Amino acid sequence: MTSPDTHPPAASAARYPAGSAAFPHRDLTGLAGLAPWELLYLLDEAEQWVELNRQPHKRSDRLAGLTIINAFFENSTRTLLSFEIAGKRLGADVVNMAVAQSSVKKGETLIDTAMTLNAMHADAMVIRHQSSGAVRLIADKVDCPVLNAGDGQHEHPTQGLLDALTIRTALRERGLGDDFGGLTVTICGDILHSRVARSNIHCLTTLGASVRVCAPPALMPAGIELLKVTPFRDFDAALDGADVVMMLRLQQERMEGQFIPSPREYRHLYGLTLDRLAKAKGEALVMHPGPMNRGVEIDSNVADLAGRSLITRQVEMGVAIRMACLDVLTRKTRGLEGWA
Ligand code: ASP
Repeated sequence: MTSPDTHPPAASAARYPAGSAAFPHRDLTGLAGLAPWELLYLLDEAEQWVELNRQPHKRSDRLAGLTIINAFFENSTRTLLSFEIAGKRLGADVVNMAVAQSSVKKGETLIDTAMTLNAMHADAMVIRHQSSGAVRLIADKVDCPVLNAGDGQHEHPTQGLLDALTIRTALRERGLGDDFGGLTVTICGDILHSRVARSNIHCLTTLGASVRVCAPPALMPAGIELLKVTPFRDFDAALDGADVVMMLRLQQERMEGQFIPSPREYRHLYGLTLDRLAKAKGEALVMHPGPMNRGVEIDSNVADLAGRSLITRQVEMGVAIRMACLDVLTRKTRGLEGWA
């Protein structure tokens, strides 16, 4: 294996337009508007970290001396742990702000909290917040790169990237190349409240995949067609011929009032059972960003289906993608070519 510490970029220049060998953005607040080559750049950069993470010795010194602050104003298991592991594997000093014990609980404004973190000379901030747009607001006020770890129902960019990397890895393993064109991805569930759906839609459509979204009418955002996806109400129809089926959790914490009659009813119409999966392509891949509600949007025998379910692979790719994003966005700070 080649050393992951070969400085930049690991991504081969041939795939990118001339003169654009460096990733041109300081922050990663969303995937909307990123060019195909910019998405591929981050996916390609993550490959070296997938390799490193599979070695017994998983440590690089690339971000040694840098301080990364993770400020999560909303609950998280996978994303917080994965950003923490990512920063530590790159040799950075990683600090997790304990929001529950912080001055946020004493009424401090978001901007004042951000300015406080900024004054501590963080080299990158990873922010999760319950309000859509809050991470952009912080990014506009601070001096370091900001990574969005999920803002309300807006975007969860590293999830979109890790999902694309997971799909690409699975395609390669099956000898199907790494082209997203010709791929049909069905995303089913609470599209209305899902930042995961939005980031996946932006990422996958930009990379050339056909994306179908399926939800009960109350959980389908108005005007979703504008995002270049095909909406479905009928799950069986949405599954017909799909290569990848991505299931989403009902985001109860973002719902005010009754959006579905009952979980049982929901499962009956929109739950991924083995029988339903048979409507998709023969070897269709199954994904879920987690946390899963087994027996509601996905049955256990589907979630654990060997050779087809990529759910644990998604978690694995999450660490590599977050390492890539932290590395790429801090290059400028480290005196390397980066955002202008
Ligand atoms: N973990 C994902 C998110 O933070 C999906 C979910 O919570 O359902 O958006």
